[in-house]
Amino acid sequence: MKVCVIGAGVIGCATAYELARKGHDVHLLDSEQAPGLGTSYANGAQLSYSYVEPFASPATLRGLPKMLLSRGSAVRFHPRWDWRQWAWGLQFLRACSARQALQGTAQLLQMAQASRAMLEQWMREERWSFGFEENGKLVLCPTPESLRLQERQVALQAAMGCRQEVLSVRECLEKEPALQSAPGLPWAGGVWTRDECIGDPHRLCGDMVASLQKSGGQVSWGVRAMSFCRRGERVDAVVTSEGEIGADAFVMAAGPRVVPLAAKLGIYLPIYPIKGYSITVPFRAGAVRPHASVTDLGRKTVFAPLGEQLRVAAMAEVGATGLDVPPDRVRTMVDAVAQTYPGLCDLEAPAVWAGLRPATPTSVPIVGRWRGSNVYLNVGHGALGLTLAAGSAVALGLQISVTD
Ligand SMILES: Cc1cc2nc3c(=O)[nH]c(=O)nc-3n(C[C@H](O)[C@H](O)[C@H](O)COP(=O)(O)OP(=O)(O)OC[C@H]3O[C@@H](n4cnc5c(N)ncnc54)[C@H](O)[C@@H]3O)c2cc1C
Repeated sequence: MKVCVIGAGVIGCATAYELARKGHDVHLLDSEQAPGLGTSYANGAQLSYSYVEPFASPATLRGLPKMLLSRGSAVRFHPRWDWRQWAWGLQFLRACSARQALQGTAQLLQMAQASRAMLEQWMREERWSFGFEENGKLVLCPTPESLRLQERQVALQAAMGCRQEVLSVRECLEKEPALQSAPGLPWAGGVWTRDECIGDPHRLCGDMVASLQKSGGQVSWGVRAMSFCRRGERVDAVVTSEGEIGADAFVMAAGPRVVPLAAKLGIYLPIYPIKGYSITVPFRAGAVRPHASVTDLGRKTVFAPLGEQLRVAAMAEVGATGLDVPPDRVRTMVDAVAQTYPGLCDLEAPAVWAGLRPATPTSVPIVGRWRGSNVYLNVGHGALGLTLAAGSAVALGLQISVTD
């Protein structure tokens, strides 16, 4: 089949690559001049296979007033005259039940495990160099209460196949000695997950596209999908800024910008952008770099050592749609590095970035065929797109093969 994949973020690249592996004739297009320049550019770099708990949960609901009202909070809400924001917000509040959080965790863990297996297979078959490392992840809990909540989640996830250990402060320091230099950090303990991994998302997109092209796939950059030519439920072509592109099937993988595109076909998607930021800073010459990924739950900040650099990602802003990076957000992340790893990084000129997480209210992505049509969706991966890309590409690939 000829399949046109719209959007070359980590989701579209993985989908296109998987479809080409299955023998389809794939055409991947993106409005940018290269792959991976959207939300997949400089995210937290964590292949976070065991940390998939949906954002909507009873604990989030309880903590929401404090999160939204405290100054300097990592979570912000910018109210807008936009019915989509309020509809999404109501669906999010409804998703904060214990039952939905449990169901979402199980679904996401299953997809994450499939993703791990598939990415490992792809890496065995291809020579990719996206800085992949199985370096383990340490989640630092600021208070005894947050440690207890994590302990409960670890017990729950153990029944779903996750291997995680709850550690004292001393044991955390043994796992990641680079934290020794930050004695003033307020934390009560942590959770260690040995088999968590990291990788540079932008470089992974480049690797997947190179492999796609090697197997005969076609790519077009600087081409914006604008609408569709359809006959009843069937789409014959996508209308782009460079003319029409025909195919037997179309995959929408346009990340946070999928909503207006899907609306051209009358498809309403409950996806709303949640803005986040990252900085990337070099380790100082001679510094003993940290080995593990660290998530500081108190600051809601992740730290991933990527080669000679430290990637730091944080914050969630609902309703902030631009990609500007306010100086106070940068300062907060720079301070977090200075306090967590004093003297380890050169903080003079951080590379700053903002991205929009394409979030569903339940945190579960939308992967599958749109009704009886030849249009498929692979969208809404929120805070977990890098982690879930391979798994959701495989899930979509199975549906295309079975149904057409
Ligand atoms: C601060 C931050 C930290 C994060 N950390 C992590 C992490 O550690 N681990 C993790 O797993 N996930 C993380 N995420 C989430 C992850 O980055 C996203 O889930 C993922 O990048 C989404 O990928 P995507 O391919 O759906 O979207 P994108 O990467 O945005 O790709 C969509 C592509 O579609 C193109 N496009 C859009 N509309 C059109 C159109 N009409 N025509 C043609 N092309 C179009 C865009 O140009 C873009 O290239 C983080 C996100 C943020 C913001």
